[in-house]
Amino acid sequence: MKFDVLTLFPEIIEDYCDVSIMKRAKDAGIFEVNAVNPRDYTLDKHKKVDDTPYGGGAGMVLAPQPYIDAYESINKFEKSITVMLSPQGEPLNEQMVCELSEYDQIIMLCGHYEGFDERIRDIIKPKEISLGDFVLTGGELPALCLIDAVSRKLEGTLGKIESANDDSFSNGLLEYPQYTKPREYRGYVVPDVLLNGNHKEIAQFRLQQQIERTKNRRPDLYKKYIDKNS
Ligand code: SAM
Repeated sequence: MKFDVLTLFPEIIEDYCDVSIMKRAKDAGIFEVNAVNPRDYTLDKHKKVDDTPYGGGAGMVLAPQPYIDAYESINKFEKSITVMLSPQGEPLNEQMVCELSEYDQIIMLCGHYEGFDERIRDIIKPKEISLGDFVLTGGELPALCLIDAVSRKLEGTLGKIESANDDSFSNGLLEYPQYTKPREYRGYVVPDVLLNGNHKEIAQFRLQQQIERTKNRRPDLYKKYIDKNS
């Protein structure tokens, strides 16, 4: 998998991918990250990548030329998808992450300031993805969320110890409560069933907890789970 990220702040992308599980997976060749700065492609003699909006209004709009030229400089794989991080896009979810992990290359466009000149959308025709109904200052955090979530789906990114099998959403439910040592902390005690070594009982207890938790916190997911399993 190759992640190509168009960003005015490549160091944000590079720094995040240079620690912990991301670094280990990158060093093992499971994925590659290539940050491309549209500023390196601007034809403006002052290295500008943005300008004031036609029609007036606050802020600066990202100009088409540096973004389109930077985008066109990227070598496209056969199985490639281009994503624009945008609050106007489809909200990211687990299913979308799984679908994206099937590609060999994800090219990401990170906006900043007031966002993109509309012609960047018209020409590139990216899939627009949002992190949720709120507005961030830039697309770098959403791009990193995408890189992180997708790379967890790639074989070898997670060691056995970090398996994603029981994570929230993997079976349509939220994860069960987790405990580690000590057995008692400030009067809160680990449920006995987790200590008895009976794997069948533990699995039943955990599933029950998952169902309860999902019912209370995410009635929408609970309904889907019940519909599917009834
Ligand atoms: N003016 C734009 C609008 O109202 O739709 C928002 C621009 S925002 C300040 C700057 C950039 O941050 C966007 O171009 C996008 O790349 C990124 N961004 C902000 N919020 C986001 C979100 N919820 N999901 C994905 N990207 C987001």
